[in-house]
Amino acid sequence: MVFILLGPPGVGKGTQASQLIDSFGGEHISTGDLLREACRNQTGLGLKAQKYMNDGDLVPDSLILDLIRDHLGSIDPKAKILFDGFPRTIPQADGLDDVLLNVSRRVDKVVLFEAPEHELIKRLSGRRSCANCGTIFNVYFSPPKIEDECERCGEVLVHRSDDNPDTVRHRLRVYQSQTAQLVEHYSSHSAVLKRVSAMHSVDEVQSAFRAAIGMD
Ligand code: AMP
Repeated sequence: MVFILLGPPGVGKGTQASQLIDSFGGEHISTGDLLREACRNQTGLGLKAQKYMNDGDLVPDSLILDLIRDHLGSIDPKAKILFDGFPRTIPQADGLDDVLLNVSRRVDKVVLFEAPEHELIKRLSGRRSCANCGTIFNVYFSPPKIEDECERCGEVLVHRSDDNPDTVRHRLRVYQSQTAQLVEHYSSHSAVLKRVSAMHSVDEVQSAFRAAIGMD
């Protein structure tokens, strides 16, 4: 099964993907996480992507599709896949279809997580993530037991530099202008799009998510 988690930054896609994978296994492919790792390791891709990420702009499609092809080549070809933060443009969606077709797979479901903008801004400003294992906390909604310390692995929690208010507003505009059209794309090209309100607790959203993909 191949699932796409669609929705604006801060809506909780990463948290929902991690929770589902903890219960059912599979591969959580977050292009944001892969790019941050490439930046930390100062790979060629990381060096090319860093400026776009700092500014809250999208990294060019060709770099993202190369990253996805490489990554898919390194995982079990039959694994259940949850794409998080990918695709973000129509060319990326078309590129993904081609890559999947080559291995006789296709997108099974696209889940659109929805929340109003003021909520997204609050969530992003409170978000803290573990630099080591990627677990996400929120100082307002799901604070760690010890301030700035990951409950899962004990590492220090960080506030992403692109979660500052100006870059957050820019990222939300980029989502509206370049990514939101994927909602129409997936509703018109196939009957796979499901909508889930993210305005509930993490566990309630997880239940709705599982129902949407038929894993409840
Ligand atoms: P995220 O962690 O998904 O919020 O992504 C952080 C940043 O990485 C974005 O603001 C973009 O600069 C870049 N990025 C992540 N995924 C993509 C993608 N599919 N296409 C283009 N840029 C991306």
